[in-house]
Amino acid sequence: MDDFDNLITGYRRFRTGRFTQQNALYKRLADLGQSPRVMVIACCDSRADPALIFDTAPGEIFVVRNVANLVPPYSPSDKFHGTSAALEFGVTGLEVSHILVLGHARCGGIEASLSRQEDGSFIGRWVSILDETRQSIDPTTSHEKQCVSLELAGIGQSLKNLVTFPFVAERVAAGTLSLHGGYFDIATGMLNMRDPENGMFAEIK
Ligand SMILES: [Zn+2]
Repeated sequence: MDDFDNLITGYRRFRTGRFTQQNALYKRLADLGQSPRVMVIACCDSRADPALIFDTAPGEIFVVRNVANLVPPYSPSDKFHGTSAALEFGVTGLEVSHILVLGHARCGGIEASLSRQEDGSFIGRWVSILDETRQSIDPTTSHEKQCVSLELAGIGQSLKNLVTFPFVAERVAAGTLSLHGGYFDIATGMLNMRDPENGMFAEIK
């Protein structure tokens, strides 16, 4: 059986298993539409799936995933802005109450940013969102430590960039929208949450 057949087998398991058990919920979501209260900005990484980490039900979280879970700064232009479009819909369309920027350990996108790949690739351009943040990383520590530092600092930068969007800043100021930073360690399955006061991460017990 090849890799794609595995997917179809998985689909059949879903259709006869979880989908059947949650049939009424799916029907209700189809009829009434979605109204998730939480938006998650996560990485594309196949090991850091927010729906699995938070054990969520369908309709519970509105998710956008991109390389290195980054939020770009607000910058309206005639270019294509996938993450900004999702953010706009989550905030102004769904009126979510919370946004979580979810980073993770061993992030390839963060590693690309650290290696300063200015090769004209889409990834190189995208992770240049962290160019300034990268300056704060101690270059004398090990590569592994630098990666972790930038993974954590990148979450802070994305939270900062979130409030450059007027529709986010308005709602944060009005107290109707809260911003959160989280970090998932793939090897241990541990979730760390960022303290907005001091930017430090602490393990969730
Ligand atoms: Zn990643």
